[in-house]
Amino acid sequence: MRTVVISGASSGIGFAAAEHFARSGDTVFNLDVQPPIAAPSPGVTWVEADVTDWPAIEAAVAAVWTDQGRLDVVIANAGISVRHGVLNLDEATARRVVDVNLLGVLGLWRCAAGYMTRQGRGVLLATASVNASRAYPYYADYNATKAGVLALCRTFALELSPNIRVACVSPGAVLTPMQEAEYTPEMLEEVNRSIPLGRHAQPSEIGAAFHYLASPAAAFLTGQELVVDGGEIAGA
Ligand code: NAD
Repeated sequence: MRTVVISGASSGIGFAAAEHFARSGDTVFNLDVQPPIAAPSPGVTWVEADVTDWPAIEAAVAAVWTDQGRLDVVIANAGISVRHGVLNLDEATARRVVDVNLLGVLGLWRCAAGYMTRQGRGVLLATASVNASRAYPYYADYNATKAGVLALCRTFALELSPNIRVACVSPGAVLTPMQEAEYTPEMLEEVNRSIPLGRHAQPSEIGAAFHYLASPAAAFLTGQELVVDGGEIAGA
């Protein structure tokens, strides 16, 4: 039974990932600014924390360590996305996107890496995106943060090998509250037509990728992203 910390597990991909681990009997701590949007499985505990507040994240992870005496898997998943073109890009919004999506991953991983180094093992994971390797217009700041997450993944993998593995899942379009908040039904249909498999992913399909990356089956995988996109960028 593992101890798993996931940021942003109150909704969408993080929620689904937490369910996968909880169903395997793991103990999951969800660090999120908001309470879960639905009742999670037993074994998933919400801890109110903002990933941009590094001291708060350090306190939350320290409390998990004290309670559990171990830290097996940490998934930096919390993220935000705002559609705004470069000509009218709002500074405060752009800074917030970088703070949550990039520095939020760095702060949580950095803190977790200390505990994992002490225990001599662990797996650090994060949610990047297909936007890391392909530019989507109107998401300049978001695209940049996701490319940055891949750079963090490679750097942490080099510094923390051989005892700690590091990897990202890069989802394509996933039907979550984030996606539904920004896209009209017509836009969602247009996205479906651009995906070879003809649909959005379900959050649980991304959760399954995290479950694999955290497992012994992925023991030789580090410093890499696993793209789960229904074929979206295969022809890009
Ligand atoms: P979501 O909005 O459903 O869930 C995001 C969760 O993160 C929410 O519970 C939210 O409260 C939490 N959160 C936001 N800011 C936070 C902060 N500062 N501190 C702690 N928690 C915070 O979104 P989602 O679609 O599940 O997105 C999860 C991750 O997946 C994000 O990193 C996103 O960029 C990435 N992603 C999503 C898609 C997609 O199509 N939905 C595609 C590729 C990547």
